[in-house]
Amino acid sequence: MSLLEDTVGSVLSPEEATLFERSHPGRIGYSLPTLTVPRVEASKVLPKDQIRDAVLDFPEISENEVVRHFVRLSQKNYSIDTGFYPLGSCTMKYNPKINEEVAKIPGISNLHPLWPEKFLQPALSIQFQLGQLLSSVTGLAAFTFQPNAGAHGEYAGMKIMRAYHEAKKSKKTKVLIPDSAHGTNPATCAMVGYEIVPIPTGPSGVVEIEDIEKLIDQDVAGIMMTNPNTLGLYEKNIHKIAELIHKVDGIFYMDGANFNAIMGIVRPADLGVDIMHINVHKTFSTPHGGGGPGAGPVGVREDLKKFLPLPVVEKKGDGFIFNYDLPHTMGRMSGYFGNFSIHVRALAYMLSIGATEDSTYIQQMATAAVLNANYIRHRLRGHYDIPFDTTCMHEVVLSDKIQEDFGIKTLDIAKRLMDYGYHPMTVYFPLVVHGAMMIEPTESETKETLDQFCDVMIQIAKEAKSTPEILKTAPTRVFRERLDELRAQKQPRLRWSRA
Ligand SMILES: *Cc1c(COP(=O)(O)O)cnc(C)c1O
Repeated sequence: MSLLEDTVGSVLSPEEATLFERSHPGRIGYSLPTLTVPRVEASKVLPKDQIRDAVLDFPEISENEVVRHFVRLSQKNYSIDTGFYPLGSCTMKYNPKINEEVAKIPGISNLHPLWPEKFLQPALSIQFQLGQLLSSVTGLAAFTFQPNAGAHGEYAGMKIMRAYHEAKKSKKTKVLIPDSAHGTNPATCAMVGYEIVPIPTGPSGVVEIEDIEKLIDQDVAGIMMTNPNTLGLYEKNIHKIAELIHKVDGIFYMDGANFNAIMGIVRPADLGVDIMHINVHKTFSTPHGGGGPGAGPVGVREDLKKFLPLPVVEKKGDGFIFNYDLPHTMGRMSGYFGNFSIHVRALAYMLSIGATEDSTYIQQMATAAVLNANYIRHRLRGHYDIPFDTTCMHEVVLSDKIQEDFGIKTLDIAKRLMDYGYHPMTVYFPLVVHGAMMIEPTESETKETLDQFCDVMIQIAKEAKSTPEILKTAPTRVFRERLDELRAQKQPRLRWSRA
């Protein structure tokens, strides 16, 4: 059997009619018993402006048609439960079902944020415990659970940075950010009102001390760095960088999106990090495709605790309280107490792998994630260009340089992966690599899965040489063929029609 036939996951479903097209007058899902009370005209009991002139044009269909329609639609979605998801930077690890079970416990899912504190004790204890675990793996003194995503956490962190400087009446204006950074980093700094100073990526893919030395001065409020960086490489100069930043009384902000690679091995606070967010939906596993939901708890060093957003969960006696009494707080970040159900999943995940203050199990996740990425790097070497071919962390960045000779680009390779039943890897990010393909296998995949994926990648590399025309028109085996992406941007067709 060829690889194409062998691969599961491709959904070869014919175009199917919409529910509206399948509507049949009089077809219904259920019927109500005959009325046992007198019938009253709506116009007799409702104000005129609340009554429609015409019956809405809802499709009339049987219940099982509705069910099949939506289940089929759900099957057209690629998901972590249906296949390997090599999307780099996103940490698409398996989402254990126990997380969902715990989040569904009625005592958790039915909580109302307006209940008095004494009824919210279980919720407070969950946030408190999660905070303690995050403090133990990061070395940071306290966490806020207000931010609802990584980017939201960045915003909270940068506001805290600003509050720190303003409290000292210092008028610092600039924040250093590596040019390989995630787009949210410069965007956040700009929103908080700082000028962004890009740090170039050095020849070995990391930030060089000499470059920081050239850029640093008394106007620098801080630095925002991702470690490991978005090339999947460990920032080896991080200690020295922290020292330089602290010398000008700057704050070291770490974007913790890539924490999966180093947790349990090194504590960011020990590297000199002052503030950091954690994308718990990535590192601690919550389904997060399609833009959410997420949570971005932010941890700070001891003297920055007073700037945290409100409220902060604290222990008092045998119970827990929301502390609203922080005179220097940066304010509120979200309604109520953050994306609570994500915090529940994160804690469930940590406890279900055996994580305690002793971080052995957390460390095992990180080392497996790093091993898996390096395994892929080794297997794909020679078939794809690897711009920084040294030991990587949890993700590996390739480029389309070899395939360019055959007129094949990263986009073609990504599209062809869909024909083989895989979600494409992250493409064209980070921006510092031309034609970047970023692959993050995570720790939760078996060697067999990684091998099958690498076999497909190698096969695609061969096709790029022998039959480039196939790649140019891919995908052809999924339910939507290649879109005209430019036209989709310029003339979006937002209403479906069979024509
Ligand atoms: C995902 C990511 C972010 C943004 O996090 P969201 O939770 O998507 O807002 C920031 N930086 C890096 C490096 C990331 O990978």
